[in-house]
This record gives sequence, C-alpha cells and structure tokens, in this order.
Amino acid sequence: MSILVVGSVAFDSIKTPFGVADDVLGGSACYFSTSASFFTDVNLVAVIGDDFPQEHVDFLRSRNINLDGLQKSSGETFRWKGRYDYDLNEAHTLETHLNVFESFKPELPENYRDAEYVFLANIDPELQLEVLQQVKNPKLVACDTMNFWIEGKKEELIKTLAKVDILVINDAEVRQLADEPNIIKAAEIVRGFGPRILVVKRGEYGVLMFGEGSIFSAPAYPLEEVFDPTGAGDTFAGGFVGYLAATRNLDEHNLRKATVFGTVMASFTVEKFSLDRLREIEFSEISDRYKKIKLLTEFADID
Ligand code: AMP
Repeated sequence: MSILVVGSVAFDSIKTPFGVADDVLGGSACYFSTSASFFTDVNLVAVIGDDFPQEHVDFLRSRNINLDGLQKSSGETFRWKGRYDYDLNEAHTLETHLNVFESFKPELPENYRDAEYVFLANIDPELQLEVLQQVKNPKLVACDTMNFWIEGKKEELIKTLAKVDILVINDAEVRQLADEPNIIKAAEIVRGFGPRILVVKRGEYGVLMFGEGSIFSAPAYPLEEVFDPTGAGDTFAGGFVGYLAATRNLDEHNLRKATVFGTVMASFTVEKFSLDRLREIEFSEISDRYKKIKLLTEFADID
C-alpha cells in the first residue's frame, strides 16, 4: 500500500565535529521517502526551486518515488543550515530559508487523493493540514514537527494534530509542545491534542512509543561512529510508516516491529552525510540490524 508524504525537499549545509557539507540533498520528505521506499511505494508532495538539479530528481525516481506531486516554482529551493556539537542529539539551527515554500499551495494530483497512509513530514503545519484536507478517507495519518513550528505556529500545529493518529516527535519537542518537563506526563498531554499514539525519538537513547495505557521502549542500534544525525528522525519515520503501510496492520505487535524497522533505517542515515548511506544499502543489511536489536533487548523471565 503506497504512502502519501508532504514535507520539505531541501539543500542542507551541515557542520558536525567530524566534517562539513554544503548544499547537500536533504529535507524531511527526501529522508522519509527514501527510507520508506525500502518497504513500499511513496507519492511525494513538495516544492523545489529552479535551482534544483536533475540528478536529485533522478535519484528520487530511481527509488521508485512518485514525483507527480513535486511542483517546480521559480525561486530558490528550501535551505536549512545546522550545526552539531559533541552532543549529536541536539541540532542547532543556524539558518532556515523557506524560499519557494513561502508561496507553496499544495494541489494533490487526482491519483494521490485516495491515499490510505499519509505522512505529514516536518513542514509548516498549515501546509500539512491543507494536504490532509484533500485526502478522501485516510486509514492512518502520521505526523512529525519541530521546535521551529512549535515556537512559530503552535495554534496551527494543534489544529493539525487534532486530525492525526500518530505523532513522531523528539523528546525536547514533546516537552516544549506540552509545556511539561516530565516526558510521561508530556506524552499524555500531547496525546490529548489528538494523536492516539506518540512516538518520542531520543537520539542515541532510542525511542519510546506511548499508546493507550502502554509504553514500548526500543534502544538505538549501537553504532561506534555517528557521523551526522541530520535526517535520522525522518528516516526513522520512513521505516516506521513504510513498514506499517506494507503490512497493513496497526496492532500493538506490528507497531512495535515498525518501531524497530524505523530505528534500523535511522542507524544507516547517521553513518554518512545527506542520503549517502541510504543510497548504498540492501534490504539484507536492514534485516541483519533488526535481528541484532532483537538480541540486544532479549532477557529471561523471572524464575
Ligand atoms: P531531522 O530528521 O529532524 O534531523 O530532520 C532534518 C531535515 O529537516 C533536514 O534535512 C532539513 O532540511 C529539514 N528541516 C529543517 N528545518 C526545517 C523546517 N523548519 N521545516 C521543514 N524541514 C526542515
């Protein structure tokens, strides 16, 4: 079953303690779609400027991502500039240039409107809602966001969240959105805004999934070298929603498996800049890491 995704397609400029990259392919929708494409078909909605190179379009097509909803406008593509210090869990945004996203009016191609699985990747919550309103009868709506929108457009974000089933968000952001420092209490408050499931990303400490009366914890894949964490969250979401859409099963058991697939996908992205690591991997490497995480968390019952 294919997924409809709206989000950013970007040029990222990144500095980590291990290197620098300028104007590389990034954006929430690119990471999400590339990751999800290992599991299912993806229909992408986004906007690029006239500076966006054909080689990036060709790469997305090579992953079988449907680009009928990728608009090209005159102007510059969205740009994000960020820095990480030795605590790679925290991204410091240096510059955000919305550029062509400022005047973007998403218009879904007819063949996208029957989407059953929808992912509202990190982008202006008003655009997220505009896209969602054009989808006839979605079975699952998942969503991501970030501090930039929580600070600038909280009311609009809360309106979008009322229509969302699963929110994928990082720990600092869930605290900020709930205005509550305790993560368990914060998760309950945010679930009260609409999403029945909340997936909280905690960088190298893994993921917590909160449902009705349940919490599931998945560790991060233990990597010796993390090079650039940019896109880890979107890549997680791509594996998570990709697996759910591919298996068409939303029970707790399957949600847990999806969480681990998301974790595995993110573990590849952080090994290189941009989408470079995702360009190389085969599905067998994904399965190997899945099995290793299972072993990592296995322990015996009480005697
Ligand atoms: P993450 O998975 O959270 O590391 O997301 C990183 C990606 O988010 C980068 O590739 C950026 O281009 C993109 N990004 C950063 N800020 C924004 C924003 N305000 N809206 C949409 N996308 C953004």
